[in-house]
Amino acid sequence: MADMADARQNYQALRTHIKETATLGSVSALLGWDQETQMPPRAAETRSNQFSLLARMHERQTSPKLGEMLSAVESSELIQDPFSDAAAIAREVRRSYNRATKLPATLVEEIAKTSVLAHQSWAEARKASAFKTFEPWLSKTVELQRQVADCIGHSGQRYDALLDEYEPGETTARVGEVLRNLRQPLVDLVGRISTSGKVAPVEIFDRRYPRDAQEKLAREASAAIGFDLSAGRLDVSVHPFCTDLGPGDVRITTRYDESDFSSAFFGVLHETGHALYEQGFLPEHGGTPLAAAVSLGIHESQSRMWENLVGRSSAFWRYFYPKAQAAFPDALKDVAADRFLFAINDIRPSLIRTESDEATYNLHVLLRFEIETALLSGDLSVADLPGAWNEKMKMYLGVAPPDDARGCLQDVHWSHGAIGYFPTYTLGNLYSAQFFEQATKDIPDLDGQLSRGQFEPLIQWLRQNIHEHGQRYRANELVQRITGGPLKPDALLNHLKRKAAEYYGV
Ligand code: ZN
Repeated sequence: MADMADARQNYQALRTHIKETATLGSVSALLGWDQETQMPPRAAETRSNQFSLLARMHERQTSPKLGEMLSAVESSELIQDPFSDAAAIAREVRRSYNRATKLPATLVEEIAKTSVLAHQSWAEARKASAFKTFEPWLSKTVELQRQVADCIGHSGQRYDALLDEYEPGETTARVGEVLRNLRQPLVDLVGRISTSGKVAPVEIFDRRYPRDAQEKLAREASAAIGFDLSAGRLDVSVHPFCTDLGPGDVRITTRYDESDFSSAFFGVLHETGHALYEQGFLPEHGGTPLAAAVSLGIHESQSRMWENLVGRSSAFWRYFYPKAQAAFPDALKDVAADRFLFAINDIRPSLIRTESDEATYNLHVLLRFEIETALLSGDLSVADLPGAWNEKMKMYLGVAPPDDARGCLQDVHWSHGAIGYFPTYTLGNLYSAQFFEQATKDIPDLDGQLSRGQFEPLIQWLRQNIHEHGQRYRANELVQRITGGPLKPDALLNHLKRKAAEYYGV
């Protein structure tokens, strides 16, 4: 055991080091936010210079000094309790230190170069719907990601090493089992809905919804569910996002479409869910893993909860629908609340993941998870990807893409080398449903509270159970602690089955 005073000193130095790195990261994130929301077009070169200078901070994350401080903390009694501040910080800093130091510079460079060219070729291929153009680049990307997995290390399953970037400590076997158990019941449910003969009245969204009124209502909803606008902002960008610039500064964006009410409204609820998570971290832990998201899946569970579990519920709209009708008298005055509710709970198979509903979305993700694990292991060759994609679309969703642009070329992820990312979306849906089911048990009359616009008890529940812990617990530990069991598909399936019964009578 290292000397305790020495260990404490190293721990303090380690904290200072990572906090400074986080501050540099937040400067870079602020530049990124500005680029998406405010930056004049001719500033591109200046911005790129600013980014490259800041990118040199990467050395801080691989510095031998950091490695030494980390080893000193790891070999001390400070980490005896695995859930202590020091142990959680050491564990997560070790994880990112390993990921940053285990890849040879030549491989990092090759990946950077390839991803620029692969992205270009993907954009061209998608435009022309010509998979052949992208095929050699995807092959190269898969090969490079195999090398990444081997450098980082794994116990036989390369996908584990890639998944770990987005879901720390998660395994392919565990995620695979949950998703497999979700698949058939969900395919059956979506099938019953499709043949129910009932169709949601989504045409009510094709009316005119003035932009200013949309913004006013979205801001009101965001603030009502707890977004602190004195510690955050809501702005406009082409691709909506949420960015955490540190304690007291969390920013979200959206985009408004006057001929569509739902995309901005539910988009803002979604990003507000992400923002609430980040506003819920404890300020004293700012810049450390104790003020960071457990994983992308847990992050997504927070956005999906407000967007879907709360935001599409009849309770929420008992409170909010009169406000929506007042905001859009022309579009909504002749629309009864139950018709509106059916429209926002539309479930129907479609070709494009990003436009799909909360039920079929998971089948889009499942297909991608199965395909990318098979590509990585070599069970599926890149050349056979379009065929495999179309076959699974037919099997799971009953629809066949007419071309690859609306099939296997629709998502940007693989062109960037992001293999292992897709499952985080459905993990988010699964976590959100399991958490919400528990919240419903823990909070008396949650439904009644939501229908009266009383969101505070749910926010407090999320803060205490999830937000305040940052990365103290890994995702599987968090789920176990909160819900008393491992992640299962049951809560999500039950939630979707209730909707299917209510709106489609199946
Ligand atoms: Zn999200």
